[in-house]
Amino acid sequence: MSGSRAHGEPARGEHIDLPTLTAASMALERLQAQPGALLPSERLPVLRLSSFLAALAPELAAAAAAAATATAAASAAAAAPAGPGGQPAPPPRDEARLRAELDKLDSWEEFDAFALSAASGGRPLEAATLEAVSRLGLFEALELPLGPLAAFLRAIEGLYRATNPYHHSTHAADVGTYALLQPDGLAASLTSLEALAAVVAAVVHDVDHRGLSNDFLVRTQHHLALTYNDASPNEQHSLSLAFRVLMQPGCNFLQHLPAEDFATFRALVLDIVRATDMVEHSRLSEALTRDVRELGPDLASWDAVARGHALAAVVHAADISNVTRPWRAAVRWGSLVSAEFQLQGDAELRLGLTPGPQFDRRHADAPRSQLAFIRRYGRPTFEALSAVAPAGCAAALRGCDENEARWAALEARGEKAFPL
Ligand SMILES: [Zn+2]
Repeated sequence: MSGSRAHGEPARGEHIDLPTLTAASMALERLQAQPGALLPSERLPVLRLSSFLAALAPELAAAAAAAATATAAASAAAAAPAGPGGQPAPPPRDEARLRAELDKLDSWEEFDAFALSAASGGRPLEAATLEAVSRLGLFEALELPLGPLAAFLRAIEGLYRATNPYHHSTHAADVGTYALLQPDGLAASLTSLEALAAVVAAVVHDVDHRGLSNDFLVRTQHHLALTYNDASPNEQHSLSLAFRVLMQPGCNFLQHLPAEDFATFRALVLDIVRATDMVEHSRLSEALTRDVRELGPDLASWDAVARGHALAAVVHAADISNVTRPWRAAVRWGSLVSAEFQLQGDAELRLGLTPGPQFDRRHADAPRSQLAFIRRYGRPTFEALSAVAPAGCAAALRGCDENEARWAALEARGEKAFPL
């Protein structure tokens, strides 16, 4: 196709605004969910995006009408719409409380992502990321413009699905701030571009997640699995969406970067987010352990490839750090993951598929699943990372020990549920 535009590509200057793009994506998904429906993606390559949207006009109008009806019904009944994880919607943003929560961002003991979510009026990702970027000195170092960065974050946060029990923007805010602010000392060894890449990767790593595992998407021939040829469809979709949002007018906070720097940034974000797929866990841990053995513990002396491994390992560690947190937070996050898994298990049963043990609510066993995760993923990940970030990992490993003891005690008593 060199030198010519692909058929499905929008014409130059054809601007599709974000709400339309999002509505189109959801309409496409609904159409594809209908049994026996002609998959619109089969027709998509021969249509320009504008023609595709026109073809979907009735769907989009129906979606808009349904949304308007739902909103009216919600206000009429004064019912509380769902917030992250099915919790009641948060109260309006409270500046004093938000400041107090943001001040705890780097505290292992005190940081509470759910309190941050409530204080920020349901926008923890935007608030926490602006704070992290500011604390890391990235506004000055990279001359980042606040307006486009805030617009980008608001758009990304809006594309996280608040109805997911687990994969909502509070999870992304938790991962991002943890990755860069809590493993003490690591940020000091990074270039500004690397630190920004890690922050942005954490911010976007689960955007528009459906609450369904890659394995489920592949087994059901979901359109994301077809689009990405079964290779990490969740992560690939989040990345694709994130960079399309970045290219939207008003959202590109990196427009001023030299092309070479932008290419470095993009390659890092792609690598870091792809490595959050759990199938990459072993490869990532082995690469980090090998780099530490061959290059020593001082990240500042490592080459770019090895530093990329370390960045990916940090974000992956933050992504699975729930089991290492103070007990109350560990239990809450664990119960939300489990709730999301079980919803998938319900869908698998409806489709005549056999859910794995963690996805099947008939065999739920919270202590056993949490102990297995700590032993197989949590502790080994932080042990490998502690070679380059000893201070932050010490707290996480202490958390593993404490939580493991409490889960083991519950298991010994024959408990099966989360002690909420
Ligand atoms: Zn995640």
